[in-house]
Parts: sequence; structure tokens; C-alpha cells
Amino acid sequence: MKRGVLWGLGLLVLIIAGLGLFLKSYTPAAVDPAWRTEGVSEIPQGAVTVRYTGTSTLLFSDGETSWIVDGWFSRPGLFQLLFGKIEPDLDAIEYGLAQNKIDQLAVVIPVHSHYDHAMDSPEVAKRTGAILLGSESTANIARGWGLAESQIQIAQNHQPIQFGQFKITLIETRHFQFPDPTIAERALADPEIEDPVVPPVPALDYRLGQPYAVHVSHPLGSWLIQGSAGFIQGGLEGYPAEVVFLGTGGLGTQTAEYRETYWKETVETTGAKRIIPVHWDSLTGPIQGPFTGPSRAASFLSDDGEKNLSFLKAKESEDPTLQFETLPRYDPVILFSPLSD
Ligand SMILES: [Zn+2]
Repeated sequence: MKRGVLWGLGLLVLIIAGLGLFLKSYTPAAVDPAWRTEGVSEIPQGAVTVRYTGTSTLLFSDGETSWIVDGWFSRPGLFQLLFGKIEPDLDAIEYGLAQNKIDQLAVVIPVHSHYDHAMDSPEVAKRTGAILLGSESTANIARGWGLAESQIQIAQNHQPIQFGQFKITLIETRHFQFPDPTIAERALADPEIEDPVVPPVPALDYRLGQPYAVHVSHPLGSWLIQGSAGFIQGGLEGYPAEVVFLGTGGLGTQTAEYRETYWKETVETTGAKRIIPVHWDSLTGPIQGPFTGPSRAASFLSDDGEKNLSFLKAKESEDPTLQFETLPRYDPVILFSPLSD
């Protein structure tokens, strides 16, 4: 009897340890290590740079004006996401802003209102004096966090706004479709946030809101940020870009036809030759150190990294004029060099 209890306990410990390891282990990232770009230590005056935190948090600067996409630094764990409540992690935000060398920002633009884009945006706007530009749903996340109404601006589809030398246009787009109908229903149906969100709240209280593609033109060049791997047919016509920050998360779970159409509507329509995959990294991993793919425990929900990577590799080998790059964490990368005179 006693021995039986001991065996039982031993087994339980093994199961818990195994589960712990499973939750903490990550799938390989769906990017080619050969794509990795190094940051620069000296930024030439007037260059346009980008710094990457992970997911689709991207900081752009030309030395005079700086602004950020999403500004998401908190990384609630899987258990909290599924069964608990979440809220902005102020220490993580402070750390992330410091690593990005941010003190002042002109604007914070969440690509949609899910927690992994918009949850921290109001706090980032508060700390940097930025305008928070987004949908009505994003505005309600900001109101719930107590961001001043004077810092909240509702985006108008296709209406460019000038911040310093950056001309920024938000273009309505779609979120990628979760293949599991239950998850799709929970994450994408009923998308509007109609009342201020006061965290802590369940993760899915950060409803989708209106997703946007962000088009930027600057005297030195133009680019597009497509955070989630969705599209509207013809939606990006008339928006040429030299660089695309291409959201690839979840692309592996879609049909081959979907991947092709997404590519055509995003990369081919803009004519971009420089492809920078984003949103391929773990949503629960730390915001320091090397990037990993989604955790094993979460990957069955929404990713198939292998299919995703082989699709991108096929595109790369089909067209030798394309240049794939993945960004380092936090180090500035030159997006466009200053014009030499
Ligand atoms: Zn999302």
C-alpha cells in the first residue's frame, strides 16, 4: 500500500515536471537563420531606422521623429491567457522602452485591438506623450487605462496623417482566420469593444476591433506593415512600398491557396522587394534574448511553422530579386540610408 502511494507520488511529480518542460519549450521559429540582419552601432545622421521588440512591435525613427507600431512588451503566460486575467506589465513596459531607447514618441499605432498588439499601447502613449492612433475599439482600451482624450485619435481609413517627415496611412484589412472554428469564433466574432476596458480582464476581452495595414512614406522610402496575415482583395492597390513587414504568424495553418493570395495581395501588390517577416515569434516567451517560435503548448492552437517556412523559402528561391531579412532584438537596423549629397 505504502509503496503504491510512493509510486503514485513519483509518477505525479514526473507528470508535473514533464508538463512544466512542455509549457516552457518552444518550437523552432519559422524563419531561416540565414535571413538574420545585424544592427548597427552607429546610426548615420538622417537615416531611417527600425528596432524590433518581437511580434509586430516596431519602432521607426529618422532621428527627428520616432513612433511605434503596437508597443507591446507584457508577456502573460499561457495559463493566464487561457484561464486567468491579464493586464499591462509596467516593469516589462519600462524595460522594453529603455531597450528601444525611447523617451518621446509622436504616435503609437496598434494594428488591431487584440492584447498582443493594443494592451500596452495606452501606457506607452502615456509615458512618451504620443498620440494613440487606432480604431474605436482601441480608443476604448485607452479610455479604460485613463489615457487623456486629447491623446486619442480615431483612424480614418485611407486618410494619411503627417508626423514629422513620416506620412502614415491606415488601411482597413483583415485578421488571419484561425483554422479551429471554436477559436475563430472566440477570437474574431463580435469584434467591437464598445466600453472602456479596465484591466485585469480575460485576454479575449481585448476584442479584435478594426485591423489595419500601415503604409508609410518618407522622403527616403516607403514601407508597409501588415501585422496579422490577413488581406482584403485589392485593398493595397495604389500603395507601393519598397519594404514589407510581413506578418507570418498562423500562415502555416492556412490553405496553400490562402498563402498564395496573401502573398500576392501584400507583397506583389505593393511591389516590395525587401521582406521582413514579423509576428513569427512566441507570444509567451521573454522580451530579451534570442527569439523562439511559439511554445509547444501553444503551437497546436495556431501555427504550423514548417509549412510557413517552406512557403517563404519557395518564394525566395522563385525570385532572386527578393531580399528576406529578420531583425535582431532592439538593435537599430538601417531601413533607409540618408541621401548622400
Ligand atoms: Zn490578433
